Amino acid sequence: MLVVGAGLAGLHTARLLASQGLDVVVCERRRRLDTGIRTTGIFVRRTLEDFSLPADCLGPEVRRVLLYPPSLRTPIELVGGPDEFRVADMPGIYAHAMSQALSAGARVRLGVSYPVRDIAARFTIGADGARSTVARRLGLDVNRHFIVGVEEVFPVFGGAEPTFHCVLDPRLAPGYLAWMVDDGEHAHVGLAGHPGRLAGPLPQLLRSFTNRFPDMPHAAGPVERRGGPIPVGGVLRRIACPSGLLVGDAAGAVSPLTAGGLDPCLRLSEFATKITTEYLRTGDASVLRHYDGAAFRAHFRGRLLLRQVFSRVPAPAVGAGFSLLRTGFGRAFASRVLFGRGSFPVMRTELGIP
Ligand SMILES: Cc1cc2nc3c(=O)[nH]c(=O)nc-3n(C[C@H](O)[C@H](O)[C@H](O)COP(=O)(O)OP(=O)(O)OC[C@H]3O[C@@H](n4cnc5c(N)ncnc54)[C@H](O)[C@@H]3O)c2cc1C
Repeated sequence: MLVVGAGLAGLHTARLLASQGLDVVVCERRRRLDTGIRTTGIFVRRTLEDFSLPADCLGPEVRRVLLYPPSLRTPIELVGGPDEFRVADMPGIYAHAMSQALSAGARVRLGVSYPVRDIAARFTIGADGARSTVARRLGLDVNRHFIVGVEEVFPVFGGAEPTFHCVLDPRLAPGYLAWMVDDGEHAHVGLAGHPGRLAGPLPQLLRSFTNRFPDMPHAAGPVERRGGPIPVGGVLRRIACPSGLLVGDAAGAVSPLTAGGLDPCLRLSEFATKITTEYLRTGDASVLRHYDGAAFRAHFRGRLLLRQVFSRVPAPAVGAGFSLLRTGFGRAFASRVLFGRGSFPVMRTELGIP
């Protein structure tokens, strides 16, 4: 088995496949897993409950969200009750995931890009992110709808209540948002939007956001910059063939609405492992039909529709939208999007794979 990419999807899949006794090699083009990180690393409650992430890599609980209109005045406060977020120390999470994959028997080759000449694999797992080379080479579907994001990470020195600040301003972040999440240990300041509609280069927009935002914590300079494309077109339809399959961002497994991909990549990896082991055990290619992106897409219809609406909201309409968000209905809707437990579907029951 060749797993391409040592992000969370690749390392989790490699660990699960190796623990089934399969001969697994992971190739990763980065030389180190603590550099070139793309993600903020916000994990939701449901992921923390269902997957064993190392507790010492999870930041303090963040239960408070402030939603800001473009004026940045009078934000709406939402408090998540037991459904908190946690911002993870991602280098620690990747190191832990790699050591688990190695302990299960997988081999990990860093600094090696796919295609790899000296590995003859019976089956290839594309966990190589939003712009997957594996998808193209296997003739599977590729992501076409993206937002692009950038963020800076600052150490902070405690004091403020852990808060996720979200700014809805289409001039700054068309089709998504600008954010500052401060959990008392680090502040992640970033924004993302549709590439064709950004008013300027991302670093410049981020600078103007950082300068304008009133609640920036007192912090030293940034210690890290992160960013990259986020596929928001939903799970791709054709994500498996007899030579391999896709997981994580490569499969488009990202919530089209929140752009969260950490929970989906873990869940899809588990399903992909079941399908792969069953296929390799039986040699029956019809097993792969169960790994059907179209079936996943059906679960995301509402969120795909909301993504289309949200991505087209013009700046002048945001003010009116905020009046709606301040009503009981609006607050309930926003809380559901932010704190709701509607995560990636668990497919094994629907599709009958043991
Ligand atoms: C700015 C930003 C912030 C985000 N914040 C959050 C968040 O807070 N919460 C959340 O849930 N989601 C977030 N996301 C989305 C989330 O990070 C991704 O959905 C998730 O990390 C996908 O994991 P993955 O393993 O599929 O892909 P990746 O983490 O992208 O891993 C792919 C790996 O494949 C490697 N690779 C690529 N091509 C090759 C090749 N040819 N050969 C060998 N290796 C290769 C890459 O180097 C990389 O290590 C964010 C995304 C961005 C861009």
